[in-house]
Order: sequence, then structure tokens, then C-alpha cells
Amino acid sequence: MSASTPDNDEDALRELAGQVESYHLQAEELGRMLAGHRLLECPNCGLAEDALADLTLRVIHPDRPGEDCGLRFEPLDEDETTWTCPNCGTVFGLDDEPDVSAG
Ligand SMILES: [Zn+2]
Repeated sequence: MSASTPDNDEDALRELAGQVESYHLQAEELGRMLAGHRLLECPNCGLAEDALADLTLRVIHPDRPGEDCGLRFEPLDEDETTWTCPNCGTVFGLDDEPDVSAG
């Protein structure tokens, strides 16, 4: 009888997938803590905040993925619910987005 079974590989894969997912959640959580709000994304040009594992926050331009463009979103009010995109100037509110988590 064979010593290796397909089940072992499947378990390893599933475990790996779980680790990746939990890492992703952790990174998202860290980003929220770093920024003090959830990560922003411009609805017009796609400029988006991104959190790195080393606790740094960067802003990614869609034309140059994987690279900090150096721009930062600017809050328009003290509550930080309305923001200006530093790239295209679009004003957008966090409240505008449909809240998918709250059913
Ligand atoms: Zn924009």
C-alpha cells in the first residue's frame, strides 16, 4: 500500500489557504488601525490605500500597482467621513458606500 495519500496534500493546501486568509484579515485590521479608519479608495480613478505587513500605509495608483505613489488622501471634515482624492480631486464620502457587512 502507498504511504502517501491525497488527503495529506489536501489538508496542507487547506491549512495554507487558511493562513493566507488570516494574514489578509490581519493586514486589513492593521491598516484600519494605522489609518484610524478603513482603507480608502477613490471611486473615480481607483487610487487606493494599502496596508503593508511592516505597519506602513501606502497609497497605490492603479497605473503603478505595488508602488507607493506618495500621495495621501485628505479628510474634508473632522469626522473623516468625507475625503478628497489627491490624484484626481474627487470628493467622496465613506457613507456613500453600501455596507455589505451589516446585512
Ligand atoms: Zn481619484
